[in-house]
Amino acid sequence: PALVTTKGSFVPVLSPENCGIDILDNGRTIRDFLDSKIKERGSADNEEPFYVASLDSILERHLRWRTNLPRVTPFYAVKCNNDASVLRMMSALDTGFDCASKVEIQLMLSLGVTPDKIIYAHTTKPLSHIKYACTHGVDMMTFDSEEELLKISLSHAKAKLVLRIAVDDSASKIRLSLKFGARLESVGKLLGRAGELGLEVIGVSFHVGSGCTGSLAFKQAIADARRVFDMGNLLGFQMSLLDIGGGFSGREDCQVAFEEFSEVINGALEEFFPPDSGVQIIAEPGRYYVDSAFTLAANVIAKRVITDDMDEHNDGKDNCPDRTMMYYLNDGVYGSLSCLINDAAHTQVEPYLNRVVESSEQRYRSVIWGPTCDSFDKVTDSCWIPELHVGDWLLIDNMGAYSICLSTDFNGFERAHIYPVVTAETWHTLNLS
Ligand code: PLP
Repeated sequence: PALVTTKGSFVPVLSPENCGIDILDNGRTIRDFLDSKIKERGSADNEEPFYVASLDSILERHLRWRTNLPRVTPFYAVKCNNDASVLRMMSALDTGFDCASKVEIQLMLSLGVTPDKIIYAHTTKPLSHIKYACTHGVDMMTFDSEEELLKISLSHAKAKLVLRIAVDDSASKIRLSLKFGARLESVGKLLGRAGELGLEVIGVSFHVGSGCTGSLAFKQAIADARRVFDMGNLLGFQMSLLDIGGGFSGREDCQVAFEEFSEVINGALEEFFPPDSGVQIIAEPGRYYVDSAFTLAANVIAKRVITDDMDEHNDGKDNCPDRTMMYYLNDGVYGSLSCLINDAAHTQVEPYLNRVVESSEQRYRSVIWGPTCDSFDKVTDSCWIPELHVGDWLLIDNMGAYSICLSTDFNGFERAHIYPVVTAETWHTLNLS
């Protein structure tokens, strides 16, 4: 499909200058870029961790979305990764945005995104944030309770409301319907209350949860949404928007392929919301767009070798040489890798060397730790890699989702720097400069 970009706008949405993008010309690859950054750091005595963010990857994901879900407009979930290059790239691709708070709305407006492209998709909002949305023209917002309706009627009486429903998310690793969403039994009363308060309800939203292991969850949720649409229409609301939420994996090795989800979603939309229903369909993907775009490079800052006689964990069954390696990286669970504790859909990572490893090379059982004083700060318990030395680098793929936005500088370790890159070919496809 042809790309819609915002070329010609007053301030370029995405440019090398406004978010430090490196354009990879003369056939340079992301690997070349990574290697050059590692070399550069070596000669500058700088071992700080960094990410390389591939805008090509985001574009590929976007094209895949449009091919597979042509009726569904993505509203990217800003909370997932709010790096300027990501947000500007999404804006250049003409997506909408799902914001969870005043600060996220502020951020998107400051980048030139118009209020009609924002949904305030949080059902429990501070009153002052609703007022902010009101004064800045952000009208679309979700709710799932009577209390929220009362707040909205006081602070944004012209809001366009989307009723979030709880759905069966029992097949998901992160179950959001435990916390959000009205049960179907209470929907009639809620819609009635919205009517009494003179509020406008325009549609229904749900989130099947993240790390969803069964595509049928979407079918059931879309069928449930249809019932709520019918109730809303009967009560006199002009129901015109269906929001199918997020939860789409951003990884190739996920349990259910995006194409399989898409097939089920398209079938359910055809059945319950056919094109002639005139209903606009949106979604709030986060990790789908960014997870695979980011690779983290972290430095081995310390090392300990534990020999058999010292290691109480080695039961002697390992066919390894007589030792376990302990490496300490300068990034860990309090930094970029907080997904290991905070993100049930991403509980493991596989660090690898930034060079080819020959099959004949000796590998050692290796435990990899983060840099802080906490023993909870462990990256991986046991991986088998050749011996590393202080100063070596390890790479970790699929680090774009819920990483930078959740990292801290606990113990004074700096957050990883981000280098956005794009190949010259993709840059020209985007037609932005
Ligand atoms: N929409 C809402 C309301 C959410 O709470 C979340 C994540 O928590 C998302 C969208 C994005 O979900 P994901 O990154 O799994 O696509």
